[in-house]
Amino acid sequence: MSHVFHRSSKGTLPVAAKGDGVYILDTNGKRYLDASGGAAVSCLGHSHPKVVQAIKDQVDQLAYAHTGFFTNQALEELSDHLIARAPGDLQYVYMVSGGSEAMEAALKLGRQYFIEKGEPERRHFIARRQSYHGNTLGALAIGGNMWRREQFSPILIDSNYVPPCYAYRDQRPDETPEEYGLRIADELDERIRQLGPETVIGFVAETVVGATAGALAPTEGYLKRIREICDRHGILLILDEVMCGMGRTGTLFACEQDGVAPDIAAIAKGLGGGYQPIGAMLCTGEIYDTIRNGSGFFQHGHTYMGHPTACAAALAVQKVIDEENLLENVRQKGAKLFDALTARFGNHPFVGDIRGRGLFQALEIVADRGTKDPIEPAVQIHAKIKKHAMDLGLMCYPGGGTIDGKRGNHILLAPPFIVEDSHVEEIVGKLDDAMKAAFAEAGL
Ligand code: PLP
Repeated sequence: MSHVFHRSSKGTLPVAAKGDGVYILDTNGKRYLDASGGAAVSCLGHSHPKVVQAIKDQVDQLAYAHTGFFTNQALEELSDHLIARAPGDLQYVYMVSGGSEAMEAALKLGRQYFIEKGEPERRHFIARRQSYHGNTLGALAIGGNMWRREQFSPILIDSNYVPPCYAYRDQRPDETPEEYGLRIADELDERIRQLGPETVIGFVAETVVGATAGALAPTEGYLKRIREICDRHGILLILDEVMCGMGRTGTLFACEQDGVAPDIAAIAKGLGGGYQPIGAMLCTGEIYDTIRNGSGFFQHGHTYMGHPTACAAALAVQKVIDEENLLENVRQKGAKLFDALTARFGNHPFVGDIRGRGLFQALEIVADRGTKDPIEPAVQIHAKIKKHAMDLGLMCYPGGGTIDGKRGNHILLAPPFIVEDSHVEEIVGKLDDAMKAAFAEAGL
C-alpha cells in the first residue's frame, strides 16, 4: 500500500534524503534514477541550482501574502509567462496548489460561466471512462475510474461517460486509427444529444492519458473532431493537462500537437517541477469577461493560491526550460527512449504496446500479445515491477489492472527533461532486469 498515512510508511519505504539531477538518494546513500519524475512531476530533476536559488531569494524577500490583499511579482510574472505561451484564446490564469484544485476550479468556472450567461439549466459534465482527474470530491466525481468512485458515489455529483480514445484496445480490424478516433469522438456527439445539449456544461479529458492508461495519446484528428462537436453544441472543452502538460510531451501544452485549444485547461505537476506545490487553471477571455461583466467575481478561492514562493519556483522552472531549450531535449530524448524501449521490448511476450509522446512513454503489459488479455489482476504485476525496479535503483510508475479486469497493466516512464543518453540506457536496462525479476516472481 503506497498511499499510507505518513507515520505508518516508516520502515516500509526508503527515506528520501537528497536530490542530484535525475537521481534521488535515500538515507543509506542508495541512488534511484527518477525515470517517472515521481508521478510525472520532476521535469527538471532534483536540486536544480537556479530553482533552489529562486526559492531562497523569494523567501528572503517575502514568503507569503494573501491574494485577497495583494498580488505579487512572481505571480504576475508567472501568469504573463504562461499566457504568452498558451494556445488559442487562453488568456487568464488562476493559480492554485495542485492538479485536483486546478480541476475543481475548472468545473466550478464552467458552471458559473453558464449561470452568468443565463443558462443555469446546464449542469452535466461528460468525461471519459478510465479517466482520472484528481481525488477531491468534484474532480473524483468526473473521473471515469469506477473503482475509485464506488464508495464515495452517494456524495459525488453524477457524471456521464464516453469511451476513451484507445486504439490499441478498441480499434476494429476494418478501420484505420484515424477512422477509429473519429468514430469514438462521435460518441460524444451522441451522448450530448441524449442528455440535451442545453443541459451540458462541458467535456473533460486528458489530452494524453497518463496514470490510468499509460501515455495514451489521441489518434490523429480525434481531438479536432471533439473540438468541433463541443463548438457545434456550445459546450466547453476542458483539457486536463495536469500530467501531460508543461512540456512533458515535447510541446508546452500537449494539445498543441493536435492543433486544438481548449476553453479551459488545468496544469500542475511539471509547472513547478516538484520544487513547490502549484497548479493553475487557464481560461479564455470569453469566459473571464462573461463573469467579470456579470457578477464580477468567480466564486472560488484558496488560502495558498498565487503563493509567492510557489510562483517563484515555477517561474524559475519554466525559465530554465526556455533558456536551456529543454523542449527540444524532450523531443530528442523522447524519440531515443521510444526507440530503446522498442528495441528491448518490441518482441517481449508480455509487452503488448509501447507508446507515448516526448518523455511520456509507457509499456502496456499483457498476458498474451495476440489476445491482449491482461495478466490476472491479483498478480499485481505492475506493483511487482515497481518493487523490483526500486530494488535496482529505478523509479517507474505502475498503473492499471483495475479497470474492469479487461485492460492491461502499464508502466509509465516520465524522466526529467535533462535526461541524457546514458540515463536512457540505464532506464531501459534496469527496467528489463526488474521485469525479468517480476515475471519470475509471478511464475510467468
Ligand atoms: N489530473 C490528472 C490527469 C492527474 O494525473 C492528476 C494526478 O495524478 C490530477 C489531475 C490530480 O493532481 P493532484 O494529485 O496534484 O491533485
